[in-house]
Amino acid sequence: MKKVGIPQGLFYYYYYPLWEAFFRFLGLVVVRSSPTNKKIVDDGVTLAVDEACFPIKVYYGHVNELKGKGVDYIFLPRLVSIEPKSYICPKFMGLPDMIRAGIKDLPEVIDITVDLSRGDKGWQKELARLGKILNVNYRQIKKAYNYALEEYFSYRMIARQGYTRDEAIKVWQGEEISLPLDTPLHIGVLGHGYSLYDDFISMSVIKKLRGMGVKVYLSEHLPTEGIEKEASTLPKRVFWTLGRKMVGSALYMDKSPDIDGIIYVACFGCGPDSLIGEVIERKVKKPFMLLTLDEHTGEGGIITRLEAFCDMLARRKKRDEGYLPCYG
Ligand code: SF4
Repeated sequence: MKKVGIPQGLFYYYYYPLWEAFFRFLGLVVVRSSPTNKKIVDDGVTLAVDEACFPIKVYYGHVNELKGKGVDYIFLPRLVSIEPKSYICPKFMGLPDMIRAGIKDLPEVIDITVDLSRGDKGWQKELARLGKILNVNYRQIKKAYNYALEEYFSYRMIARQGYTRDEAIKVWQGEEISLPLDTPLHIGVLGHGYSLYDDFISMSVIKKLRGMGVKVYLSEHLPTEGIEKEASTLPKRVFWTLGRKMVGSALYMDKSPDIDGIIYVACFGCGPDSLIGEVIERKVKKPFMLLTLDEHTGEGGIITRLEAFCDMLARRKKRDEGYLPCYG
């Protein structure tokens, strides 16, 4: 059986169940790279172009690891847009070319273009191209894709119940993970999924907060209509899909009486983060903390900042200080 490698980075956290189910239906064996570790990061930093943001550098490391796993194909889709009139960060558009230029002797790269901004026609063509690469007829490809969509929707339903995306993938695969218990302190945590749910990149921010007795709210746990409604209150529409969801989620969390404070996890070198983080910081009235991470970030500093933020929120709650600014 032929093997297809899927790197455990970037849109893995959003779409792994879809693509795993798709390739499995067609009889391929899906091989993932390991969860991010120091070697993957070091290799990625060495192989990637200097200007790349941290998650892109890490992705190079994942692809490099897969190269040594004897796979026949590596799945590196060119993500342009996943919904009408909105786009994914431009770094995703050139990713397959950047990776090919940076890592030599790769197995065959499946670089289908995902661009749903212009309707379904182009996407059907790309699926047909994928069929040619895999030597499978179009009818089978369509069947596999419909099956994969069903699996994907069931994974999304799991994520909504209160899990992180990486936990939801595990639950979707049959692992038993109990939902975190409710605790008195509630914090909304935002960030691109590929940095937030990657324990190495985010230094397990979510697990650390839970360990400090915090109930963590994520974008995935909020109603989609509510997020979109809040995002639409901005004077100009944010055309980055993930950026818009983050702003909408932050504004929704800001109004939610259940949430005491908001943390935004940004990545060093990320253009959209520098803008979206700033917009959120200016708009929200609740206590807000911006954490910027890169390969040099120390874990001790992150723990100190999380503890200080939680202590401050707990103190405010106890004294019922409300959300007056710290200066008055
Ligand atoms: S949105 Fe930011 S973190 Fe994500 S790929 Fe683009 S530059 Fe990198």
